[in-house]
Amino acid sequence: MAARTEHDVIILGGGVNGAGIARDCALRGMRVLLVERNDLAKGASGANTGMIHGGIRYLRYDVHTTKMACTDSGFIQKIAPHLLFRIPFLVPVAKPPPGATFKTLFDTIYLEFAEVFFEAYDQYQPLKRGKPHTRLTREEALALEPGLNPEILGAVTMDEWGIDPFRLTVENAIDAHESGAVVKTYTQLVAFDKDAAGKVCGVQLEDRISGARERHAAPLVVNATGAWGPRTAALAGAWYRLRPGKGVHLVYPHRISNFGIAMDSADGRQMFFMPHENGTIVGTTDDDYYGDLDNPRATEDEVKYILQGARRVFPGIDKHRMSRTYVGIRPTLWAWGKNEDRLSREHEIYDHAPQGVPGLLSVCGGKLAAYRQLAEEVSNVVAARIGNTAPCTTWQRPLPGAEDKVDVEGWTRSLTTRSRLGVARMAFRHGARTTRMLEAVAADPRQGAHTCQCEPVCEAELRYAAKAELSTRLVDLRRRTRLGMGACGGTHCLARASQVLAEERALTPAVQLVELGDAMTARFIGRRPVLEGANLATEELNQAIHFLSGNLAPFLRAARAQVPWALSVPSTVSADAPATRGKATVRADVVLPPPVPDRA
Ligand SMILES: Cc1cc2nc3c(=O)[nH]c(=O)nc-3n(C[C@H](O)[C@H](O)[C@H](O)COP(=O)(O)OP(=O)(O)OC[C@H]3O[C@@H](n4cnc5c(N)ncnc54)[C@H](O)[C@@H]3O)c2cc1C
Repeated sequence: MAARTEHDVIILGGGVNGAGIARDCALRGMRVLLVERNDLAKGASGANTGMIHGGIRYLRYDVHTTKMACTDSGFIQKIAPHLLFRIPFLVPVAKPPPGATFKTLFDTIYLEFAEVFFEAYDQYQPLKRGKPHTRLTREEALALEPGLNPEILGAVTMDEWGIDPFRLTVENAIDAHESGAVVKTYTQLVAFDKDAAGKVCGVQLEDRISGARERHAAPLVVNATGAWGPRTAALAGAWYRLRPGKGVHLVYPHRISNFGIAMDSADGRQMFFMPHENGTIVGTTDDDYYGDLDNPRATEDEVKYILQGARRVFPGIDKHRMSRTYVGIRPTLWAWGKNEDRLSREHEIYDHAPQGVPGLLSVCGGKLAAYRQLAEEVSNVVAARIGNTAPCTTWQRPLPGAEDKVDVEGWTRSLTTRSRLGVARMAFRHGARTTRMLEAVAADPRQGAHTCQCEPVCEAELRYAAKAELSTRLVDLRRRTRLGMGACGGTHCLARASQVLAEERALTPAVQLVELGDAMTARFIGRRPVLEGANLATEELNQAIHFLSGNLAPFLRAARAQVPWALSVPSTVSADAPATRGKATVRADVVLPPPVPDRA
């Protein structure tokens, strides 16, 4: 094992909270090490609803969270304007059920009831540059959103903000890195080091790709490993409890509605149906989760439960084709006796010294919308412990890319191979740094051609993400650029993208093939719960074309044998992923040709 490297603080977990803490501490001049066992934003931070909102429903039982999230959302808008987009919502007010007592009275006061609630929310809207609500008649609501279920009394508007959660997390980590932090991804904690008095004084790490082991020392270690947090703390002999909550979303690859629409599930849980980036997302569920944190999967029941709620407000939903699901596990604070959606979304910082484990802090709970606040609070504790007196600057310092605007029109005119939409989407993702990629396109126009048509993503962007955005694997390029997240699920772009990654990182053909196989299989796992019948059969055929006719399978099998870190996902479509939906089953008996040696 290599000699110990000294830091002021070691942060475990590269979700939005860990990356945010790393940025804050690094900007205060601390020597920081950020450790993530997968890729940045691989956990809840990349699997949420992607809203920097106040959470209107918390007004009923958790007002402090609404206020904190609205306040921090205002700061996030200031430091990352390029990543944000407005989502105006309609909250339909349904007619009372037939036969309801005092029906006539309810007809007249239901809308007033709803409005009182939104008047309370209006007090917080200015904190996040949100507009106050408007009350709409039934006719006005249907004119704005013709797909709405007409059985409504009217609607109320609500103004919210969407964000790209992957980019928010990654840009925090990039800023930390550019401010001196060491960022290690695909690196796992093996053990904590303790001094003679039992104080945590460092960590032992293993690089999951090279297998190399290292020791790092610091007077303080921060456990920001989200839902994995209690497990991480247990390695040091410390403990705390969470109520991990599973949340599933459905994704449609295109816009279905003009507005976001608030909806209820059969059991009364609030969910959203909304345009988000280039598509539509619908969700989310919120259920206590006791399963494998590393491999949460959406089930057929969860898909049906969400669709049932969506159909009630937007009956035409079934005409549209879902492209995939995604699943995240919330690191929710522990409480006994409450339903999942009533659990507080506040955050806590635990000092494990009273448990006899000084030198270790754990952070848990929180929201994407209040990550910066959480990071500031944790960094204040760290700074006080190590005697750092520099102030927090994260509320005003722009995230990478937010320093300036991109001249989208000018660049579009000057480039022959990049469409306006392509330049605009790059500017949304990278802000001012887009210029670096467009200069590469200007020098070599072939780099402007779309690799991923759906999003769209060009080769210059992939090369930049591979070189300059703390990415290692092909699946990481997806989180940086949304490669393969559209309608085709990566079918058309992943092969070319794997070549780009291989060129940038000098990968052997065997490694490139493993990257391609893992990325395709990961996409299919998300897609599978929304497939049934003929659609599932078509998908299987597509996969078979790639893996068998395209002759990928034998090479992939041989390649995996040569790549000891071939980490995560099953090697073929037929093997491991359990069928979760529909009658057509994925065959487990596809006969693969025998492995052949790698052509390299
Ligand atoms: C379905 C869903 C919807 C949500 N919607 C919203 C929303 O719209 N708005 C909002 O504000 N909030 C939302 N949230 C909440 C928000 O996403 C979370 O509060 C936030 O992402 C938590 O971030 P985190 O960094 O604590 O956890 P995570 O993002 O889970 O990060 C923890 C990281 O630790 C890593 N890790 C685990 N063990 C180790 C180890 N031993 N060593 C190193 N690294 C390790 C994991 O790989 C992971 O990347 C939602 C959450 C979910 C699940």
